[in-house]
Amino acid sequence: MESHAHHHCLDLIDRLNEYLDGELNADSCAELEAHLRACPECQELLLSLQQTVDLLHHLDDEPLPLPPALEDRLARQLQQRLATKSH
Ligand SMILES: [Zn+2]
Repeated sequence: MESHAHHHCLDLIDRLNEYLDGELNADSCAELEAHLRACPECQELLLSLQQTVDLLHHLDDEPLPLPPALEDRLARQLQQRLATKSH
């Protein structure tokens, strides 16, 4: 039986950046996506990485101190936090 140890996740973190940049070759891409389907932790990691990259691109495009998308996201996070607290 093949052991699917968690260090596999650490291996993939390096690749996530390339994956987001579209620089990963098809084989590694398929391997990564297969792992993502089976690993919620890496899914979450990819998501937050994607958001960060997204954010950086936004900041690159517009020199605004706070992009509307971020403002919107922060507002929603705050609402969620408040909602959790007040029940
Ligand atoms: Zn993983």
